[in-house]
Amino acid sequence: MNSDLKSKLEILASNYSKPFCYSCYQVCPTGRCQSCGSDDLMRSTPNGCEYGLDWVINEILNEKLVPVNTEEAFEESVRSTLEKETVTIGWMSFDAVTIMKELDPISWKIAKSEYETIEESEGNIVSFDNGSTY
Ligand SMILES: [Zn+2]
Repeated sequence: MNSDLKSKLEILASNYSKPFCYSCYQVCPTGRCQSCGSDDLMRSTPNGCEYGLDWVINEILNEKLVPVNTEEAFEESVRSTLEKETVTIGWMSFDAVTIMKELDPISWKIAKSEYETIEESEGNIVSFDNGSTY
């Protein structure tokens, strides 16, 4: 994960969660506990409380992240480069993208993974597990 993204996620996580004093078991919006004066505070979310922001980031990612449908996005981008979306052979018309996929699925897969790599390097999609999901 690049550091720019990481710092954005940390800001998001600290806005999403609230400082929480575990000894007094209360939220401390000011960052210091009103009751005991401690600034050694946990972060709390609707799902629990714990020290640090990493777990808050994970919670946000698990709950709020929308997986990108790269198959669909790639199809769209291929379609936009085609002169015609249908191919006619004899009296039959075929959807160009569908027959591309069916006739040479390996070539399709390779081109799709190149597309994902480019999208990732341009920052349009982000992978948190080396490409298993985006
Ligand atoms: Zn306290």
